[in-house]
Amino acid sequence: MHEMSICQGLMDQVERIAAEQNASRVDSIVLSIGPLAGVEPDLLTRAYEVARLNTVAEHAELEIETGPVVVECRSCGAKGEAEVNRLLCPSCNNWQVNLVQGDELLLLKLEVSGIADVSGTAK
Ligand SMILES: [Zn+2]
Repeated sequence: MHEMSICQGLMDQVERIAAEQNASRVDSIVLSIGPLAGVEPDLLTRAYEVARLNTVAEHAELEIETGPVVVECRSCGAKGEAEVNRLLCPSCNNWQVNLVQGDELLLLKLEVSGIADVSGTAK
């Protein structure tokens, strides 16, 4: 399942950020997954249960937020929410719209702890 590879990519990203902050553990991860991202939040959560083992995020909670689908009309310029299977301009019903939001898979927030003191206070 492709949620597994997505999850592994996510763990790489999480580990990199934790390393940059000298954090020894990750407490929580918040993801934003658009309805058109092609990712099942349930499957991703299950993949995460496996992918997090032996990483800094082993004890981190995974939270998934799903946002709306937002389109912008190429004809009248109106911007607004659209239905997942009906991508039309909310104002004039034109089908020529640009997707503004809805296919994203973003790491929104990462809470870390156990940050090593690297200020270098010599004793
Ligand atoms: Zn329009």
